[in-house]
Amino acid sequence: MIREIDVKKITEAVKVMCIEANEKLGEDVLAGFQKALSNEVSPVGKEILEQLIENAGIAREEHIPICQDTGLAVIFLEIGQDLHLTGGDLKEAINLGVRQGYGDGFLRKSSCHPFTRTNTGDNTPAVIYIDVVPGDRLKIWVVPKGGGSENMSRIFMLPPSAGLAGIKEKIVETVKEAGPNPCPPTIIGVGIGGTFEQAALQAKKALLRPIGTPNPDPELDQIEIEILGLINNLGIGPQGLGGRTTSLAVHVRLLPCHIASLPVAVNVQCHASRHKEVTL
Ligand code: SF4
Repeated sequence: MIREIDVKKITEAVKVMCIEANEKLGEDVLAGFQKALSNEVSPVGKEILEQLIENAGIAREEHIPICQDTGLAVIFLEIGQDLHLTGGDLKEAINLGVRQGYGDGFLRKSSCHPFTRTNTGDNTPAVIYIDVVPGDRLKIWVVPKGGGSENMSRIFMLPPSAGLAGIKEKIVETVKEAGPNPCPPTIIGVGIGGTFEQAALQAKKALLRPIGTPNPDPELDQIEIEILGLINNLGIGPQGLGGRTTSLAVHVRLLPCHIASLPVAVNVQCHASRHKEVTL
């Protein structure tokens, strides 16, 4: 039995989530701030964390963006293979939702031509990734991604001999070199394995996992905890002003890779870690 969804519903959902993601920081991030606040030893670090909590509260209450950088609109979709989309072109419907959301929500439009820097004017085109999955549901994530943290992201094509030690070194080095630029405390998405581009996509997908939830793979979970400890020993701290809380979480996703390769991608996410999801 094939289920149908009109793409107008997708436009509406994307529009609403663009606005909500930018105004309402997720409960997982807020809980991460609170936990960090109780562990932070630096008085300045504590003060910054308190300001971030207050800022998120003001944004939520007054319906204003958490940050002036309201991001490129990154959209992930999981489409059930028993679902039939009606009423128009899927990607056009998503872009219409982004256009309406960023317009109606008075959100800054951040998309521009790479050479001329001419703004596209409506924050489109959205960055769209589509997976086909079993079932007849449609899951949509809207992930506004800020430029400051994206700029600090890195990909490494390591020799396989680098091993796990080399992987950890590159992740920590990326965070160290980023310093205050990605507006810490950050969330570090890591993609290990696959091909060059798959590693980067896995790193971004890793950011969708709620903060505070364990990695489903116990071995990766231990690796995440260890790397987070190494990062928080760097002393960069909230907003780079010193302290124990440089990152709230490290999330790792892993894929098999070529016997001659060891790709490692590190996608840095700032404290304004915005993502909303809905299932239609
Ligand atoms: S990196 Fe994040 S918190 Fe910093 S300016 Fe960009 S969106 Fe805002």
